[in-house]
Amino acid sequence: MVVRIVIGMSATALAFAVAGRRLWRISRMIRSGAPAPGRVGGLAARAEAELVEVGGQRKLLRWTVPGLAHAFTFWGFTLLMFTILEAYGDLFSKTFAIWGFGHNPVLGFLEDFFIVAVLVAMCVFTVIRIKNAPARRERQSRFYGSHTDAAWITLLLITLVMVTLLLYRAAQTNTGDFPYTWWAFASHLVGKAFHPLGSGVNSVLETVFVILNICVIVGFLVFVSYSKHLHIFAAPINVATSRRPRALGALDKTPDMDMENVTEDTVFGAGFVEHFTWKQMLDFVTCTECGRCQSVCPAWNTGKPLSPKLVIMGLRDNMFSQAPRLLAGNGEKPEAELLVPNTIDPDVLWSCVTCGACVEECPVNIEHIDAIVDMRRYEVLMESRFPTEAGLMLRNIENQGDPWGLGQAKRTDWTEALDFEVPVVGDTIPDDVEYLFWVGCAGALDERARKGVQATARMLHLAGVSFAILGPRESCTGDPARRLGNEYLYQEQTKINVETLTSVGAKKIVATCPHCFNSLKNEYPSLGGDFEVIHHAQLLDHLVAAGRLSPGRGYQGTVTYHDPCYLGRHNRVFDQPRSVLDAIPGVRQVEMSRCRERSFCCGAGGARMWMEETIGKRINMERTDEAFTTGADVVSTACPYCMIMLDDAVRANNKEEEVRVLDLSQLVEESLSGQSRGGTAPTEQG
Ligand code: SF4
Ligand code: SF4
Repeated sequence: MVVRIVIGMSATALAFAVAGRRLWRISRMIRSGAPAPGRVGGLAARAEAELVEVGGQRKLLRWTVPGLAHAFTFWGFTLLMFTILEAYGDLFSKTFAIWGFGHNPVLGFLEDFFIVAVLVAMCVFTVIRIKNAPARRERQSRFYGSHTDAAWITLLLITLVMVTLLLYRAAQTNTGDFPYTWWAFASHLVGKAFHPLGSGVNSVLETVFVILNICVIVGFLVFVSYSKHLHIFAAPINVATSRRPRALGALDKTPDMDMENVTEDTVFGAGFVEHFTWKQMLDFVTCTECGRCQSVCPAWNTGKPLSPKLVIMGLRDNMFSQAPRLLAGNGEKPEAELLVPNTIDPDVLWSCVTCGACVEECPVNIEHIDAIVDMRRYEVLMESRFPTEAGLMLRNIENQGDPWGLGQAKRTDWTEALDFEVPVVGDTIPDDVEYLFWVGCAGALDERARKGVQATARMLHLAGVSFAILGPRESCTGDPARRLGNEYLYQEQTKINVETLTSVGAKKIVATCPHCFNSLKNEYPSLGGDFEVIHHAQLLDHLVAAGRLSPGRGYQGTVTYHDPCYLGRHNRVFDQPRSVLDAIPGVRQVEMSRCRERSFCCGAGGARMWMEETIGKRINMERTDEAFTTGADVVSTACPYCMIMLDDAVRANNKEEEVRVLDLSQLVEESLSGQSRGGTAPTEQG
């Protein structure tokens, strides 16, 4: 008995010392990060996140087989805490049972059930890892770039925990010390194989396996603290402190860009690892290297060097390599290492389209976009380093108020094609005007995007919705500048627009561009702009549902809807565009395989619209290839950027005669006018 206790408790003390030292060091590193305001309040929402994301394994279960395997492992380890208590109790007393309910047959059953379930899960993970081995699938493997050796060691250690646990319980069934009846089915079944050995040998086996079980558990604890499996401890904290309901929509931080407050110590963005907040540093150590984010990233999937997983892993490696400096206090510090280009290659940084697919997919709520934009901010504002083509876009916004530099005078040109007058707001919006129509730069100035805006205006007019535009007083919302990292220009644009909107008394705004919609709705409030903002897809849905628009003549054809990232994933508008299409008689809707929250970007977000795409396949070509496979004759969308990008790709494929790219409004309008160019002539309906 004494030997059992000495070995078991010595191993435990040693492991706790080693793992504790490591965890303490990591916690000091994380706490050295910048403050992250608002990450601990709202306890009810955070408790709910913990229950749903961690307890319910919500995101993991989206991938059925690996999700179930992980869920059973997670739930198994949670319940098997009881077996750890029993193992330590057994060191001191062979007849130990947890006080109060340690003989309960249901507990015995659940423990055995989860031992078996976890062992099955380990087999599933083994098959998944072999099938997806980077050596076999290279970039197609979501584990490409992950530490696969550590993953195999983890699988082995978890299997050993379960096997030693099962064997010591099996031996116990033959010594009379096992606290459970046959409900603990697996232990009794394996125990039958040991039965012929007699109670003396079984007693020795019990001692050996319980000590082995404890040694493997504490060995696993040490391994976890030094590996990617740190997420076992970090993930629940990371989820609890993550942005609610998700890190999409607005960017996390709105830095103070007031130049009067700038000193020589002011830093914009993140150039060195210590410029990240403690929450971002927690993100870095929480990454499980599962590669879900990488597998959905449009940049990675089209052959570019950006993988959100590798970005997070790189930042984690940088943080660990900089630990002596982060923890050096006021003493002499080793030399700091710039993140870009040392850890993050510029081609990686500028490849991001800020589509949010990675954030949506990450099971531990890592906030990739905020970290990427923080590094872009440093590059743009502190180092003046960014792709040359983007510089022209920034200058155009600054000087002309739009990314193309066409100037304010052209902002009403699109109205000339209408057969009614669109009022341009004077000093204030008249009382009989319900909506301020925020046209957006693309909608006002790009030939193709204008068609969508014109159709929207005609539909609103037809439905009797009163609206007016700002005309030459409308200016870029600043979204491209912000996503590129030029926070200063974004805030300047925001101030101009908020002042204009406030001075004319804007209350309700309808926007056709999801990027404008996102800025006005989610980002302007932090700089004083508080308006009720709606996207035209939502308004069309409302008008159709209210009977104010009846797409009566129908459209005979097949339509696939492309979810714009900033309308869908960032703002959760998935159903309304589809119900508008549903309301058009004759439309047969087909979904692309990547749709709704898993939609694939058109390639224009994150200011990529104004940068050359020279590496890998063009993202818009990848998306239209997917659209072609549906056999649809119309690719419908609700974003001027998507219209331009998808239309470019359709033309590059010489398919403009077979497939058209149309805004939702254009399709509604065609269905009303009977000018359908679908598979067959429109029918008279309704
Ligand atoms: S936001 Fe989109 S492009 Fe950027 S890293 Fe995430 S998935 Fe890739
Ligand atoms: S960032 Fe999230 S999704 Fe990507 S590898 Fe890490 S844990 Fe997985």
